[in-house]
Amino acid sequence: MKPLIAITGASSGIGAATAKLFSENKYPLLLMARRLKKLEGLELPDTVCRKVDVNKSEEIRAAMQNAEKQYGPVECLVNNAGILYLGETWDQDPAEWQEMIQTNIMGVLNGIHAVIKVMMARNTGTIINISSLAGRKTFGRHAAYCGTKFAVHAISETVRAEVSHTNVRVITVAPGAVETEIISHTTSKQFQQDWWDGIGGIIQPEDVARAILFVFEQPQGVCIRELVMTPTNQPD
Ligand code: NDP
Repeated sequence: MKPLIAITGASSGIGAATAKLFSENKYPLLLMARRLKKLEGLELPDTVCRKVDVNKSEEIRAAMQNAEKQYGPVECLVNNAGILYLGETWDQDPAEWQEMIQTNIMGVLNGIHAVIKVMMARNTGTIINISSLAGRKTFGRHAAYCGTKFAVHAISETVRAEVSHTNVRVITVAPGAVETEIISHTTSKQFQQDWWDGIGGIIQPEDVARAILFVFEQPQGVCIRELVMTPTNQPD
């Protein structure tokens, strides 16, 4: 049996596509998200599905302990759960900033914290943090979101260097516009429409899943530190 892959935010979009691809490649999975029915609806073999809010580190740990009893230690954590609310700084509800900061930054840190010590002790493991092109450059109406994704890059790079005396890899995958549910959570229909009009092209969650599998399946001594991918026609 191949080693266990844990994925947060596996109930839709990039996380669900990644779960399907790793499953096709015969990896056992731990899938985490708040919508348990969506995880179970994927109907993947050798898979543990757990209702987890990434803001609650104890829920991540409990889910991992449960899956590890069946499939052994988590070899790869894909820290993918994230939310996007677009808004202009002078109008956006700070509660949306708080939720993005909590989920996109603390969620990633909670995931790292749950696996890193054991990975270091085992001298193997891979953490793949899903950031965004918005973690490399800024976009209007994305102030808080960009802040969270720049943070994901900074956290990944710091932790990568910290554990570089071991064989634990920390990798950032940063996509441009991907066709998922994510934009639908923004309250303003106009901002949603502007997002679609402005991106110039779109890639599919399956495209990002292939990149995630690719970086993971390199030999353990090879760390693709950062992979940025966008639709070819995305100008910015
Ligand atoms: P989706 O909205 O389709 O998926 C987001 C996933 O995150 C869902 O499975 C959702 O599950 C989960 N999630 C959100 N909040 C929490 C939480 N508190 N606890 C656990 N799970 C949570 O969007 P994408 O697939 O597009 O997003 C995946 C990642 O990719 C995000 O980090 C996003 O920032 C990033 N990204 C997306 C881009 C895009 O254009 N789509 C571009 C660049 C990066 P549930 O609601 O069931 O909890």
